[in-house]
Amino acid sequence: MTLDNILEEIKNAENILILTHESPDGDAIGSSLAMNLALKQIGKKPEVIIREFPRIFMFLPGSEEVKLEASKKNYDLIISLDCADLKRLVGREYVEISKKVINIDHHGSNVMYGDINFVNPVAPACCEILVGMLDYFDIPINVEIGSCILAGIITDTGGFKYSSVTAETFEFTAELLRKGVNVSDIYKKVLETRTKGNFELLRRSINRLELIEDGKIAFTYITKKDEEEVNAEPGDHEGIVENGRSIEGVKVSIFIRQKDEENAYKVSMRSNGNINVSDICYRFGGGGHPNAAGALIQGTIEEVKEKLIKEVKKVV
Ligand code: AMP
Ligand code: MN
Ligand code: MN
Repeated sequence: MTLDNILEEIKNAENILILTHESPDGDAIGSSLAMNLALKQIGKKPEVIIREFPRIFMFLPGSEEVKLEASKKNYDLIISLDCADLKRLVGREYVEISKKVINIDHHGSNVMYGDINFVNPVAPACCEILVGMLDYFDIPINVEIGSCILAGIITDTGGFKYSSVTAETFEFTAELLRKGVNVSDIYKKVLETRTKGNFELLRRSINRLELIEDGKIAFTYITKKDEEEVNAEPGDHEGIVENGRSIEGVKVSIFIRQKDEENAYKVSMRSNGNINVSDICYRFGGGGHPNAAGALIQGTIEEVKEKLIKEVKKVV
């Protein structure tokens, strides 16, 4: 059983490094922090690397332990969380020189890059996978671990509203409430708090939003110049793509954001119903989930837009 193998690797490892994907969201951060706290409960001293830690998640227990660089060159074990692809793994330079990699994830597009892969594409969040895993390992989910896990679940389910939510999601949340986790506080901090930078980017992106194909496609963008002008912080672009999807009649919402390299854009796509945007992003070297996916594309805004619209038109 894979879970037994994972536990054995953890027990045998002297040193463990926890990694997650670039532009980390609440699920990436929540699962990394929860894994760190859980391993400490069983006497391990793991390290966690997250390089662009959004300020809104800094309230989570254990976030002060996160580092930008690892203290060692190689590790007995790397645990990667919420990351479908080595290309997106921050700290992937440690992967080649470390002994084992455990890949724990919930992306259908996961390329199974671990020595052990524990991937459940039906789980609404990587954090929800950890609930069952820690239970199997007999590591109690205390208020601190529970808060990190809940932050991930709330982020990746849009606040319990996506179709990926399961009865277990609510059962687990109810249990945390009973244990004293302040669900409403975490919800407010994770989903209902905007930095000023995020608000300013949102304002610009809404002003520029175009409705294409009889209003079935929403398109908008943010440049590096925008981010500089509003003093954007890491994570300030999160959630912008959701606004396009909420417009009546929109089937696919596209948001592109200029990367540090001038001629590259990070694509975010969201869809309604059974339109699979992960398949579309896969054609551009990306991936994700059926209703939420991303990719990285080279070109100017106009070129990237044209390439994307051409593909999206085929499915709306
Ligand atoms: P985002 O639009 O960045 O919030 O990403 C939506 C979903 O797609 C998330 O589950 C990401 O992990 C995944 N995703 C985003 N960008 C990529 C990429 N370049 N390759 C693979 N998956 C991605
Ligand atoms: Mn994520
Ligand atoms: Mn996730």
